[in-house]
Amino acid sequence: MRDTFGREIRYLRLSITTRCNLDCVYCGKAACEKRATELSPDELGRIARAFAACGIERVRITGGEPLVRADVCEIVRIVRQNGDFSRVSLTTNGVLLADCAEKLAQAGLTDVNVSLDSTDHHVYRKLTGSDALRRVLGGIDSARDAGLSPIKINAVLMRGVNDDGAEALVDLARREPIDVRFIELMPFADPAETARLRVTGEELLSRFPFLEPVGALEGTARYYKAPGFAGRVGLISPVTRKFCADCDRIRVLSDGCVKPCLGFDETFDLKPWLSDPAALEQAAREAILRKPAGHDFTAHAPRPGLNNTGG
Ligand code: SAM
Repeated sequence: MRDTFGREIRYLRLSITTRCNLDCVYCGKAACEKRATELSPDELGRIARAFAACGIERVRITGGEPLVRADVCEIVRIVRQNGDFSRVSLTTNGVLLADCAEKLAQAGLTDVNVSLDSTDHHVYRKLTGSDALRRVLGGIDSARDAGLSPIKINAVLMRGVNDDGAEALVDLARREPIDVRFIELMPFADPAETARLRVTGEELLSRFPFLEPVGALEGTARYYKAPGFAGRVGLISPVTRKFCADCDRIRVLSDGCVKPCLGFDETFDLKPWLSDPAALEQAAREAILRKPAGHDFTAHAPRPGLNNTGG
């Protein structure tokens, strides 16, 4: 269906938990809530069905860290069963991916985005508070072995913290058939501090002048390649190149509230209608109609903790 600004809304981001097994510096584990607010697989399936009826074509399961839920495969299966979705995808930090990639694929997961901000053990530990880099890299291998495709890596660079690792990340796209995407740091903490830390898409391009643009904008990413590259380098620039006019997504938080826009605080609770499919579908439609024209990170500084909103 179209929202009030004529945008076709096709993509549901479904957060299934606020819990996380990492403590990334820019994200904020401290914001995590208790398990009690999480919806059951069955409730998540009903929400998927309601949005499928509104024309949603693909679903991304996110969090928090979705793989901390022991029932994540059941959730994938039930989401699959509740809509004729072209893709059911996952965004994960990859720490637990090696243990369940095969089972996720069997449950109907199509593809995976792995968040990885550094390939250096020391920097990875500093960023995430964990020594799990080897497990994440193993998880990426397991996802490939399980046939999940495409596999994308999402990295957030911060000046003076991990931006000297950009070359190693770009090199991953040269060696492997995966897309390595750099996401601009969004102001989820002190806006002046995030502006100082942010490495923009344009700055990155100037660091890698050999990268040539390929294709049109794909979702939120612009892609680049160089001769001999097996994969692509992607730039996602929510701050310096807003893509709100083409936004096709709607988010449901792990407590069953719709967040029509990442950049606005407004949420819309679906829980009262979970046991009434017709009312739930109507509520989903109304939530889509609440999408604002676009985010404005300067006027509406979002609260810390993407763990609560599902990135
Ligand atoms: N735990 C999962 C993961 O690590 O991919 C899913 C949730 S995580 C919040 C989703 C994504 O949001 C991660 O790629 C993370 O890097 C990104 N993220 C978190 N805070 C951010 C910020 N302030 N600016 C840009 N991206 C951010």
